Amino acid sequence: MSLIVQKFGGSSVANAERVMHVAQIVTDTYAKGNNVIVVVSAQGDTTDDLIAKAEEINPKASKREMDMLLSSGEQISIALLAMAIEKLGFPVKSLTGWQAGFQTDSTYSNSRIRRIQSERLEHELGKGNICIVAGFQGINRYDDITTLGRGGSDTSAVALAAALHADLCQIYTDVDGVYTADPRLVKNAVKLDEISYDEMLELATLGANVLHNRSVEMAKKYNVHMEVLSSMEDLPGTQIKEVVDVEKMLIRGVARDNDVARLSIIGVPDRPGVAFKVFSTLASKKINVDIILQSIGRENTKDISFTVCRSHKQAALDILENLKNTLGAKAIVCDDNVSKVSVVGAGMQSNPGVAAKMFEALGEANVNIQMISTSEIKISVLIHLNDSEKAINAIHDAFFN
Ligand code: ADP
Ligand code: ASP
Ligand code: MG
Repeated sequence: MSLIVQKFGGSSVANAERVMHVAQIVTDTYAKGNNVIVVVSAQGDTTDDLIAKAEEINPKASKREMDMLLSSGEQISIALLAMAIEKLGFPVKSLTGWQAGFQTDSTYSNSRIRRIQSERLEHELGKGNICIVAGFQGINRYDDITTLGRGGSDTSAVALAAALHADLCQIYTDVDGVYTADPRLVKNAVKLDEISYDEMLELATLGANVLHNRSVEMAKKYNVHMEVLSSMEDLPGTQIKEVVDVEKMLIRGVARDNDVARLSIIGVPDRPGVAFKVFSTLASKKINVDIILQSIGRENTKDISFTVCRSHKQAALDILENLKNTLGAKAIVCDDNVSKVSVVGAGMQSNPGVAAKMFEALGEANVNIQMISTSEIKISVLIHLNDSEKAINAIHDAFFN
């Protein structure tokens, strides 16, 4: 007997008809003789709607109360799916994140799973029940409800698969697999049969939100066999595993991330210690910095630019304004009309010319590059937000057509 974890996202359980369809998929898997744990997200746009409700009342609500509110979406889904499965005549139990034993740290709204106390789940599985677990939520050491960050239900599913040594973790969603680019942005995007953990992790981190990046990180760490597939159509999906044939494809995919802002300190004296002062202050306030660029200016000065996610923009700006006089900077500049477009592929390690090909595509599309950053398996460029869609399509065409 195998243990299979199946996760269904918001659009997969958006209405009664979809919930009944999911119940069918789950019970078919169970009827084949498997133990089944199901993780579900909040229905459709529920999480966004709850955020909008909170903003009407208090845009500065504490993260603790936001978690209390947002976790309610998943609780609705587990009960409805369990009712659908009861209707089909199968034994089922719905469990909240804390009933399922998700213990997290106390970083409200972006907490990390510390451990899963899985006795209750194992007891229910032992009695032959299908278990429906609320994704995205857990409990901290003060017994407060926490959430894992937007898109976090994928991570709930992989964490359960790892903790209970499941044979397979299936992520059912509204596309039939991982594509070479977001199929909603790039019409020529192609479905991948397989992708390595490392490549998927980069793509997810660089904006391919088909998977929560932490779910991929965890799948790699615990060697969870993961599959992304459609909840709407019965089609083969994409396998995510340790190594795949690197030779076959130079580039595995293209991603874009609009959740970025660029900040610059203009005209600081060109002397040692300036970058340390700036970035250590940002780090002490837990602000993650992504691409960094330093350029030599006039009269023995330099400019330092870097990117952060938009939610950290104001805090980073405040820090720079505070440092401006100490550092002797001429100006602080901030721009959030930017987008980061990246190519990812393990094949680029052994093939020179990937960067040149990417920049050629951007040049031909008349897209100006503001910043560049590279690692062994990815190249990212920062460009104007208005060019984002044009750029991702041009780069995709250059590599995949
Ligand atoms: P769920 O609600 O099931 O978690 P998400 O909306 O989080 O679904 O993720 C699915 C979406 O991810 C797709 O509808 C698609 O637009 C988007 N997406 C972004 N990049 C990719 C990619 N490379 N391959 C497939 N889908 C992608
Ligand atoms: N409902 C949460 C969200 O919308 C978690 C998830 O969907 O994975 O972000
Ligand atoms: Mg998702």
